[in-house]
Amino acid sequence: MDQNLETIKNIIRGGGNIVVLSGIEVMRETGLNGVNAEHIAYDIEQKYGYSNDEIVSSLFFSRRVDVFYKYYKEIILNKEDVRPSLVHEGVAKLQRYGKLDAVITRMVYCLHQKAGCDKVIELHGSVEGNRCPVCGKIFGSDYIRYAKDTPKCDICNVILRPGFSLIGEMIDNGKITQAGCAVERAGILLILGAPVNSPLCRYMVNYYHGNRMILLNCHESVGDDRANYRAYGNLSEMFSQVMDF
Ligand SMILES: [Zn+2]
Repeated sequence: MDQNLETIKNIIRGGGNIVVLSGIEVMRETGLNGVNAEHIAYDIEQKYGYSNDEIVSSLFFSRRVDVFYKYYKEIILNKEDVRPSLVHEGVAKLQRYGKLDAVITRMVYCLHQKAGCDKVIELHGSVEGNRCPVCGKIFGSDYIRYAKDTPKCDICNVILRPGFSLIGEMIDNGKITQAGCAVERAGILLILGAPVNSPLCRYMVNYYHGNRMILLNCHESVGDDRANYRAYGNLSEMFSQVMDF
């Protein structure tokens, strides 16, 4: 095994109070696009006549809800029956071993929960939490996927609100505080699939006071040297090696 991975494996095996920051590359391994789908921004603009950032904004939702839901079905829910990856399975194993304090993510597909993890802080909500603005009933992603047109509440006949935050909306302050407190208490801060300078991490790492910040990602980025231990490569392969104990 790679020397770096061996060291990281030993730290995780010997440590506890682990907080995981689960990034965009963990999701990308499963083939899902995400809410903004930056990697296909050009195709989206060609197909929809609007940019991805425009479509997932609160202003756009209030004006062109039909286009918004077309995008939701085709781009955000681009794959059916997605299975958790070896990274999601590995994080669930940390929980089974009593080592996991929290998983913090901006991803919206509940894949950590599907792998058996229940300590997940979803900063931007999820595709399973679509809500009727009148009665508050919650509708999962399948309800959106199979809705004939724009999805409406089956009781009130009112158009649903998406379960994730739109650009221009306030992020839930309670969740940010909860996440910051978890990072502050962390023995090990484990960053998976995101650069230290990413929107997910650059704010959270300021709360970490330890000296075991570990980063596993596909490729190196500027600012990553704030992490104490780093390894780059295929995420699922690396993390299965690290979690092989
Ligand atoms: Zn309703």
